[in-house]
Amino acid sequence: MEEIPKTHPRYTSLMARKKISQSTKNGIVHETGLIAHGRGEAFDYLLGEKTMPQSDMAEKVAAAVLLCANNPVISVNGNVVSLVAEDCINLADTLPAKLEINLFHRTKKRIEKISKELSNYGAKKVYGQKADVKIPGLEHNRALCDREGIFSADVVLVPLEDGDRCQALRNMGKTVIAIDLNPLSRTARTASITIVDNVTRAISNIERWVHELKNIDKNELNNLIETWDNEKNLSEMVSFISKRLNSLF
Ligand code: ATP
Repeated sequence: MEEIPKTHPRYTSLMARKKISQSTKNGIVHETGLIAHGRGEAFDYLLGEKTMPQSDMAEKVAAAVLLCANNPVISVNGNVVSLVAEDCINLADTLPAKLEINLFHRTKKRIEKISKELSNYGAKKVYGQKADVKIPGLEHNRALCDREGIFSADVVLVPLEDGDRCQALRNMGKTVIAIDLNPLSRTARTASITIVDNVTRAISNIERWVHELKNIDKNELNNLIETWDNEKNLSEMVSFISKRLNSLF
């Protein structure tokens, strides 16, 4: 594949495309993952490809929720592993949290490949291969999960989720933290905390917040969590996009 010069104005975006494209060839990303990535890119373009103050705040609250959790799990799919495997492993180690593979287009081969990729990046234990239980109310393969992982988690961080599973996880009484560049998606609107940001910026920023907040009094963390208004934050993101579009020309 052609080398992308670092001076290219769209270097970061092109590098992400290159990673995703390579990962479709080695079976980590399903071909439909390219479409999901494209939708994400479009929204990132509208946001100016940077972390907004509202997203940074959502990342701070997500860090607080993860620090207060009893059994936090980070749910990963092919796109996430292709783009930010190391960031997910670092966040899981720092908290600590479990890592679980959850795929819409689930095959034994893909699960093995993704698991191997995570191990190559240094993951000690990866959940999701066993998938011995189902999330109630879901028909598709994303229902399959690990009893010791997502099924019994109190908090699930789901970068790149689909709305159905997000709702099903909420119905199980879990706190769901979603990372989704589209503030209008069903996922964004059903999650407990929605981070409208690119996973390539969001995961490492949550980890930065975990380091900043880890020695803070639990009452203060709880206060931060209790005052979070997800709907207000989403509406501010939509309003930012609309103002930005109106001010461009
Ligand atoms: P929903 O069921 O929630 O309405 P959807 O069907 O629109 O979701 P999917 O195709 O399941 O979406 O998943 C893709 C989602 O992931 C899109 O909303 C897209 O904005 C988001 N996305 C894609 N790439 C990234 C990324 N790198 N960072 C954050 N979000 C991303």
